[in-house]
Amino acid sequence: MDRWENELNKYAELAVKVGVNIQPGQTLFVNAPLEAAPLVRKIAKTAYETGAKHVYVEWNDEALTYIKFHHAPEEAFSEYPMWRAKAMEELVEQGAAFLSIYAPNPDLLKDVDPKRIATANKTAAQALANYRSAIMADRNCWSLLSVPTAAWARKVFGDLRDEEAIDKLWEAIFRIVRVDQEDPIAAWREHNDRLARIVAYLNNKQYKQLVYEAPGTNITVELVDGHVWHGGAATSQTGVRFNPNMPTEEVFTMPHKDGVNGTVRNTKPLNYNGNVIDGFTLTFKDGQVVDFSAEEGYETLKHLLDTDDGARRLGEVALVPHQSPVSLSNLIFYNTLFDENAACHFALGKAYPTNIENGAALSKEELDRRGVNDSLVHVDFMIGSAELNIDGVTKDGKREPIFRRGNWAFELS
Ligand code: ZN
Ligand code: ZN
Repeated sequence: MDRWENELNKYAELAVKVGVNIQPGQTLFVNAPLEAAPLVRKIAKTAYETGAKHVYVEWNDEALTYIKFHHAPEEAFSEYPMWRAKAMEELVEQGAAFLSIYAPNPDLLKDVDPKRIATANKTAAQALANYRSAIMADRNCWSLLSVPTAAWARKVFGDLRDEEAIDKLWEAIFRIVRVDQEDPIAAWREHNDRLARIVAYLNNKQYKQLVYEAPGTNITVELVDGHVWHGGAATSQTGVRFNPNMPTEEVFTMPHKDGVNGTVRNTKPLNYNGNVIDGFTLTFKDGQVVDFSAEEGYETLKHLLDTDDGARRLGEVALVPHQSPVSLSNLIFYNTLFDENAACHFALGKAYPTNIENGAALSKEELDRRGVNDSLVHVDFMIGSAELNIDGVTKDGKREPIFRRGNWAFELS
C-alpha cells in the first residue's frame, strides 16, 4: 500500500473537501468495504482536520454477504434491521454527510436464487426509502467513490495476478478522478465549471424531446416541462457545494414518466447487486417497458422490472461524451459509477426531484402529475457508444443535433 501513499493522501483530501465538503462541527458517515481501510483512515484524519465532529464508519464484507445469501433462512431476506434504517434517518436529521465507497464484486451472488436477491433488495429499499429520498433530494451532502478490491480488479483485468490487477485498477481510478494531477482540487474546480457551462446551454434550450439513434436503439424521450439539467457539483439544501459522484462526466435531467417510446439496447454490462445483466433491449410504450430481452441475467432484469410500476419507467437521462476520460481508458469496469461515466445512460426508477424546477418542495401527488417517476429503485444502464446520434426537439418542433457519433455536436461559447 506504501506505493500509493501520496495518491491516497490526495484522494482522501478530494473525498473530504470536494466530495462531501465537510463543514466544521459536522458528522461524517462512511460506508466502506474492509479493503478500503487504508483510505478510510486517511479520510477520517482529513475530516477531523477539516473540522468534523464525528466520523462513523460502517464496514462491509462481501464474504459475509455471500455467507448470508447461502446460509440464512428464507425469512431473513424479507426483514430489514429497522434500527439501521432509523440510524440513517437520524443522521439525515442531524445534517451528517454521507460518503460511500462502492466497489462491489460483480459476480458475488451469481449462484444465488434471483428471487431471494430481489426480495432482499426490495426489503432494503422499502426500509431505507426515507433516507434514500433525502439523499436524492440533496438534503444532505453525499458522495460516492471507489477503491479496487481483488474480486473487482480480477473481473476488469482477468489475465493478471491479483496484486498487478489491483495496481492497474488504482492507476486507472487515480487518472480518472484526477488524483494524478498536480492539484486535483483545482482540476475538479475546472471540470465542474466545464460541466456547468454544458448544463447552462441545455437548460436554456428546454428541449421538448430527445431522439436517440444507434444500432439497436431507436427511441424518443420526452422531457418534463420545467426540467432542470444538472452535472458536476451539486448544492445541498443547506447551501453547501459537493460532488455526489467521483468520477462524474455526465449531465442529466428528467424524462416524462409517460413519454418514452421505442427500443433501446445496452452498450456496457450492468452490474446490478452482485449479478451482471448484458446484451439486453428494452421496448417502451407511453413510458412503460412493454417488452424486453437479455442474453445474460434475464431473470435478474425481470425481477428488477417487476419491483414496482416505476421500475418499468425511466427516471433519468444522462449525456456523457464518448471521449470522456473514463471511456478513453477503454476498460469495462463492471462498476456503474465508472461505466455510467463512460457512456450516455438512462436510469430505470425514481427520478431526482432536483431535476424539475422547485422539485424538492413539491408533494408526491404534484410530482406525479408533472410526470416525475417514482420507484423503490434507481438503476443506471449504459446506452452510449461511438455510433450514437441524439437530436433535441425544440418546443416549436425544430430538430437540433446534440450528439453526433457519440460526442457533443455543439460548440460552447
Ligand atoms: Zn447518471
Ligand atoms: Zn442515476
